[in-house]
Amino acid sequence: MHLVGRSIDFHRAQMDRNNVRWGGGVGPTDKGYPKPADVSKVLGTRYFFTLGQQEFTDVFFTSGARGLVDPNSSAFARMFSVADRMLESREAYGFGELHIDNSKSFSTMQFARKIEFDNPVVQRIYALADKYQGVIQFHMQGDPANVASLRKKLLEFPNSKTVLSHGLPWSSQPLLRELLEAHPNLYIELSRKGATLNDREAAQAFSKSTGPKENWLKTIEQFPDRFMIGSDTHAPDEERYDAVMQEFREGLLPYLKPETLKNVAYQNAIRVFRLNPDPK
Ligand SMILES: [Zn+2]
Repeated sequence: MHLVGRSIDFHRAQMDRNNVRWGGGVGPTDKGYPKPADVSKVLGTRYFFTLGQQEFTDVFFTSGARGLVDPNSSAFARMFSVADRMLESREAYGFGELHIDNSKSFSTMQFARKIEFDNPVVQRIYALADKYQGVIQFHMQGDPANVASLRKKLLEFPNSKTVLSHGLPWSSQPLLRELLEAHPNLYIELSRKGATLNDREAAQAFSKSTGPKENWLKTIEQFPDRFMIGSDTHAPDEERYDAVMQEFREGLLPYLKPETLKNVAYQNAIRVFRLNPDPK
């Protein structure tokens, strides 16, 4: 659940209307509104904040892709100075959504970039996530060099938990299955895999009208404790939140085995992000 300039009441009403209990996993963008601490005041533990989205956006628009691999970029330096305290106190649940490579899966052209996954910023984030069993959510694509670097980090930091946004765009089912098989600390998030926010038929995993594609259904059932749903609605898609949730409910969840359905709908997220299972 992105926070991009809408009021906290807007987000709460959106969640309530759709019977969605938890939202988060990404922070606000560079404008920093609404502020995560204020969102927590209203939503309590229904909201789970993660560090880094605001900082990645800030650094990218100040110093470009080069700044994103420099831990001394000023926004990163500020983030690293508070990260230990926030992860320890659970004010932050980890890091995300961090855009490594959205060169072919960007929301707006000026937000597109591709950096090397193996860099000192990512290294430091993994060390922190490993220390506090935190989650790191990446937006990256199935680029062979970056996927090879990801594998190394998953092995080097076994206590960290990595979530790949949007089902790892520009990859394949054999690759996803191979990654999930080899790395128990890897998870897949399914926002923008329905037709509602994804115009490219070949990139869709399911749709309201046709249900899930067979290869996706097979992968999810093969790894029922590794997939999660997400909204990803942000400007200009914010008003499509209801349609996105409806599409999960009609185009994906009913096709899953009952236990898999519960896992993908919320139980995996509770376990992986260590969410309050019964927030107010
Ligand atoms: Zn994304």
